[in-house]
Amino acid sequence: MVHALTVTDDSLAGGLTKRGVSRRSFLQFCAAVTAILALPESYAPRIARALEEKAKPVVVWLKFQDCTGNTESFLRAHNPGIGDILLDVLAVEYHDTIMAAAGTQASAALKAAIEPGGHIVVVEGSIPLGDDGVYCVIGGRSAIQVLEETTVGASMIITAGTCSTFGGLPAAAPNPTGAVSVADVVSGVPIVSLPGCPMNVDNMIGAIVHILTFGAPPAADRLGRPLFAYGERIHDHCERRAHFDAGQFAVEWGDEGHKKGWCLYKMGCKGPSTFHNCPSTRWNGGTNWPVGAGHGCVGCSEPGFWDTMTPIYKPLPAPPGFGVTTNLDSIGLGILGATAVGFGAHGVAKAVQRRRSTPISIRSAEADGNEGTDQGSGQEADTDGDET
Ligand code: SF4
Repeated sequence: MVHALTVTDDSLAGGLTKRGVSRRSFLQFCAAVTAILALPESYAPRIARALEEKAKPVVVWLKFQDCTGNTESFLRAHNPGIGDILLDVLAVEYHDTIMAAAGTQASAALKAAIEPGGHIVVVEGSIPLGDDGVYCVIGGRSAIQVLEETTVGASMIITAGTCSTFGGLPAAAPNPTGAVSVADVVSGVPIVSLPGCPMNVDNMIGAIVHILTFGAPPAADRLGRPLFAYGERIHDHCERRAHFDAGQFAVEWGDEGHKKGWCLYKMGCKGPSTFHNCPSTRWNGGTNWPVGAGHGCVGCSEPGFWDTMTPIYKPLPAPPGFGVTTNLDSIGLGILGATAVGFGAHGVAKAVQRRRSTPISIRSAEADGNEGTDQGSGQEADTDGDET
């Protein structure tokens, strides 16, 4: 059974106003989220209306085996800032890294937050099952116990980062702790997957605003990743793509090609096999992203990362006939077929082919269901029945 969302008394817009956020800034926030969700500008007023009317969702944030990178990303939210998010956009009732309470007080806060049910659970980090879960124990309970208790009655789970979504680095070979993802151990609660090392907080805000506005999670791929954030290959929107097309590659750090901003494929860039909106959403308030700063994409938002994307500084195996004159789509599809554990290569190829032949504006509308009436169908976009 799927539980209804629990919300607080205050609306998001009301909370922001109380904290001195101007009407103009609020509308700018709505416009920014509309862009992140890849919706037409005309949806911004609808999002604003929804946020003015709907109350804040109750959120508890669990942390297990991870590096705290997703909390770091969360703390660097810029539009609105983290204070506004914590206090007004979301009712974050429990976050064991940044909450003031500790020990029994923290445990009591968690219990109080989840008792009514309908809360959103954000999970950061993988869950170790090895040796009875001894590798991650919080308040005397193993990670799997905490996860199972906290997700009872939840309306939704958001997996923040690659570790909770796919297992991530803790699950890399030889996986000494028996680390697994949330989807491996929880069923019966919808999961919105936001992989990445770390996830981009703008995508998390976008997903939550989508849920509040349209009453359902955003349309997702077969891995549960929202299409607005993971529907396109990094390679297809990279600012260095023209250099790839022209056969201009950096081959050593600091060489002429690197200084001139040429393609980083030969330095190990995994952009051709990675789906994420890093080139458009960017990081730290839109300042930059790894490839823009001169480092290749490491493929951190794909299943099987780290094992399938290493060595970091070597290109992934290329299909026969690879070269700068090779048809670029066949390069991308070949790389996908060689590396994407968890994808069915055939299914991915069909999805990519379909995307290639469909204008982006239409893809956005398709991905979001019936425009204007049922944006958040929550259904997988790929309905051709090609299972992996
Ligand atoms: S290989 Fe990497 S650097 Fe080169 S165009 Fe693709 S994403 Fe950009």
